[in-house]
Amino acid sequence: MAKISVNQLREAISTLPRVKLVYLPTPLEDCPRFSEALGGTHVLVKRDELTGLAFGGNKSRKHQFIFGEAKAQGADCMIHGAASQSNYSRQLTAACAKMGMKAYLTPQRDQRSEVVGIQGNLLLDAIMGADITLVKTEGGKSQGQVQQEIAEELRNQGHKPYITGHYDAVLGTVAYAECGLEIYEQLEALGLKADYVCMASGSGTQAGIALAAKSLGAEWKVIGFRPSPGGDNAAVSANIAKLANEAAELLKLNVAVEPEDVPNISDYGGEAYGIINRAGCEAIELLSRTEGIILDPVYVGKAMSGVIDYIRTGEIEKDRTVVFLHTGGTPALFAYNKEIVDEMGYSVKIVGE
Ligand SMILES: *Cc1c(COP(=O)(O)O)cnc(C)c1O
Repeated sequence: MAKISVNQLREAISTLPRVKLVYLPTPLEDCPRFSEALGGTHVLVKRDELTGLAFGGNKSRKHQFIFGEAKAQGADCMIHGAASQSNYSRQLTAACAKMGMKAYLTPQRDQRSEVVGIQGNLLLDAIMGADITLVKTEGGKSQGQVQQEIAEELRNQGHKPYITGHYDAVLGTVAYAECGLEIYEQLEALGLKADYVCMASGSGTQAGIALAAKSLGAEWKVIGFRPSPGGDNAAVSANIAKLANEAAELLKLNVAVEPEDVPNISDYGGEAYGIINRAGCEAIELLSRTEGIILDPVYVGKAMSGVIDYIRTGEIEKDRTVVFLHTGGTPALFAYNKEIVDEMGYSVKIVGE
């Protein structure tokens, strides 16, 4: 298979329409105190929570290309639906603000929106001016139906809405191939070689990093930890490989990513998606207390608990180097304040009474 240079990969990516939304490259930060706390395995954090768009995260990188495509199609507003604490929706709303477009969100009226209301990501969506319709999860109309109705109304008013879909997932994969390219260059500048690149992912983020690794000939083990338990690991890996190969085709790269290149692990997903767990909270605590880096409780804390477990059990050995990709999500922390305080027993002292 033809290995290509960093410049060739960068050139291939530059053929796609793109808008300027983020500060790149994001830092690759050495974490010596965290590494020491884990017994010596060298851990660096690729800080994609610092992309700069409304608290940052992996969707900001993706939105450079998604909004590039939306603009190329002449869209003037965006429609997107996900969980009520969606990081995607928050970064999409911020990108809309920057591009002078309107965001129409159709989040699920889920457990989180019932428990904390307009808090965390949903609070930021509201502040940034998104038009928000909470959709009941059972009975009534689906998110897709609600989106179609909003789109039709907007079209009748003379607008051109863009509803996010599968092609956006391929564009997001391209964005993460570029992140992989950055990691490759940053490691080279530090004179380091990574054995592992680990992250919270169940789709495009891992696909893009794996595509970059394969294209550039980097010998990284690219491991994704998804944020929910159960599911079929083989099917998830097959889907991630498919996304990577669709992105390769779009970029005209002569590379094939195989399912075995993209192991994806569900063991650290806790009880369910969006439910915090002890191991995830402990991972958040350890990285914050050793390096001052904050992880989120839904995705990245759970993924880091997987990496910590791999290191402690020797699955990742002491003499290895691990790049952990921080995909963002930190505003969700505030939508889980009660559960986190209860789980970890945090308290403050009070004087003067
Ligand atoms: C969306 C999201 C992910 C997963 O990204 P994929 O590309 O879908 O794998 C991981 N972490 C955070 C914080 C996210 O918001």
